[in-house]
Amino acid sequence: MSESKPTGEFGLIDWIRRSQSDEPRDDVILGIGDDCAIVDFSRESFALVTTDMLMDGRHFRLKDDGPEAVGYKAMGANISDIAAMAGVPRFAVVAVALPRADAVAVAQGLHEGLKRMADRFDVVLVGGDTNAWDGPLVISVTLLGDTTPLGAAPRSGAQVGDVVFVTGPLGGSLFRGRHLRPEPRVDEALALAEAASPNAMIDLSDGLSSDLGHILEESGGLGAELHADAIPIHPDAVDQSQADGVSALDHALNDGEDFELCLTVAPERAEQLLASPPDGVQLYRVGVITAEPGLRLRTRDGRTSPVQPRGFDHLAGRNR
Ligand code: ADP
Ligand code: MG
Repeated sequence: MSESKPTGEFGLIDWIRRSQSDEPRDDVILGIGDDCAIVDFSRESFALVTTDMLMDGRHFRLKDDGPEAVGYKAMGANISDIAAMAGVPRFAVVAVALPRADAVAVAQGLHEGLKRMADRFDVVLVGGDTNAWDGPLVISVTLLGDTTPLGAAPRSGAQVGDVVFVTGPLGGSLFRGRHLRPEPRVDEALALAEAASPNAMIDLSDGLSSDLGHILEESGGLGAELHADAIPIHPDAVDQSQADGVSALDHALNDGEDFELCLTVAPERAEQLLASPPDGVQLYRVGVITAEPGLRLRTRDGRTSPVQPRGFDHLAGRNR
């Protein structure tokens, strides 16, 4: 990829096109270059479709993070959404609004990051849209994936008595830039679907309190009790807590962009799952689904207190 710098929109698109792998794929009938891409979807599954937009100053800081990290995160956040459905990510299209100054260099960096993440999950870039303006960088990735015969894991299936799990330690993702390096739990989600048929699943992009809140709302207004001692706290949350005085538990509950999975599993299956967890899957049992609505936290002394979902609300422009 180290030839002379492309010029103009079409020079850039041509560079992007040539920087794709030239391994032929029988599922891409027509990739970058025409008015639409043509892809071959399996007829035995349903198509999963998701899109996520990242904006300079909100989801990243181009000046500090650099375009490669932004592309990597943008693709990773979308792959994480496919993982959260227990699906297989396959085809991506990418729309960018490039800042006019340095547009080509930014686009090249972005695409290197996009591709580095896409390659990890065998995702192929089949198209996009390239624009430049006098505004900040905006990137939107749309990703198509497949369901598997195990079925999709929706937010809406939680049942009273389900055990709530998360797949990794939480909190402080902004503190050292971990939010730029998502680890989409695609394989883990498929292994969990196979081993335990989760009733509901979501990826933790807004924060556990908000995202579990989405499961509770979509599942007909249920509640959950979380055990404070059981919530896995990321070392970043501990360090951030020392820096800002907000408790590490608070960070673990309310920070976003951990990109771990949160799932609810029927009690018998949960016991089996804990007894023989799938290889390579970290599982933390953090609580239980209740008929009483709302989210509560139980502390070691046996008391419970309500938890307000406090993830980020983009229209409010602040944490809820
Ligand atoms: P159209 O005007 O028909 O929408 P464009 O001129 O925008 O087509 O794009 C030409 C081709 O390049 C299309 O196949 C499009 O999908 C692809 N493309 C444009 N920008 C990108 C990008 N940033 N990443 C990948 N493919 C892109
Ligand atoms: Mg066209």
